[in-house]
Amino acid sequence: MASCPECDNILDVDVDEVETGDVIVCEECGTEYEVVAIDPLELARMDEDAYDEEDDEEFAEEEEEG
Ligand SMILES: [Zn+2]
Repeated sequence: MASCPECDNILDVDVDEVETGDVIVCEECGTEYEVVAIDPLELARMDEDAYDEEDDEEFAEEEEEG
C-alpha cells in the first residue's frame, strides 16, 4: 500500500481500478500523484511548479581593482 510522502497518509489505491496516467489525490494534503506504474505500484508527485531546471545564468563578475 502506498502512502503519501508528504503527510504519511495511506493512499488507498486499488491497482485493479487505476491505470498508468491516472491521477491520485491525497485526501489529507491534496497532493496529486500520477500513476506511472502499476506492478509494482509507482506514483510520481505532480508538482505545480516545475522548477527543476537549474538556471545556469552566467554572471559577469566585476573585479574590483584595489
Ligand atoms: Zn498527503
